[in-house]
Amino acid sequence: MKIDVLGVNFDSLTPDEAARRGAELLAAPGFHYAVTPNPEFLLTAERDDLFRSILNGADLVLPDGIGVVYSAKLLGTPLQGRVTGVGFAADMLAALNETGGRLFLLGAKPGVAEEAGRRIAAQYPALTVCGTQDGYFSEEENDRVLQTIRDAAPDLIFVCLGAPKQEKWIARFGPQTGAHLAVGLGGVLDVYAGVAQRAPEAYQKLGIEWLYRLTKEPKRIGRMARLPLVLVKAAKLRVSGKGAD
Ligand code: UDP
Repeated sequence: MKIDVLGVNFDSLTPDEAARRGAELLAAPGFHYAVTPNPEFLLTAERDDLFRSILNGADLVLPDGIGVVYSAKLLGTPLQGRVTGVGFAADMLAALNETGGRLFLLGAKPGVAEEAGRRIAAQYPALTVCGTQDGYFSEEENDRVLQTIRDAAPDLIFVCLGAPKQEKWIARFGPQTGAHLAVGLGGVLDVYAGVAQRAPEAYQKLGIEWLYRLTKEPKRIGRMARLPLVLVKAAKLRVSGKGAD
């Protein structure tokens, strides 16, 4: 079932259901992609039709943020809950590890994807990290990057270029990579490489990873100050009768 939150249609799944669905996509012939929109994505998608249609065209649209979950509730169409990008990434690695599949890591600053790859390979010894590429290549270099990925023959690609760049890259070039599943995952490679720390469990349980992140990167305050806007917009829609009854 899809739940519309400010124009983006989310899958209403538990983390386990999302993991099962992701594993199915990974095993199915053809190319698929998953996206993990947070409230910031919703504000961008409102002004960017291409981005919105790419999000809605994904095989899996997972609510990565308590703000999305609250907005859905405010609209009167609650989601099952949050499915975080980091959690979904770990589930996809476990699925790939079971089949002995191949993983390509695309994105983040030079050296980060390699380090993430080393740590992932140590944690999931049955999968193959078949290649890495940092996320700071030019348009002109894109053909070379695509060729590198194709030659590496991955089953799964983590695309971590930040939104909306990563989703636009996936929609445009994903089918040419030969992979079965691409997932747009923002800062996940930084987390795997140990460059960024995931919030402690207490923060995760309360759904306030964003607050932890703010203490680590205070310069994000400008970006984050916009986020309550999503809740206000959802509440206004409900009040105006455009949400569910
Ligand atoms: N990034 C990249 N290429 C770019 C811009 C960003 O590879 O042109 C990477 C950046 O290094 C970081 C990731 O994208 O690892 C996600 O950045 P951010 O934390 O802004 O994204 P979020 O997780 O908030 O979506």
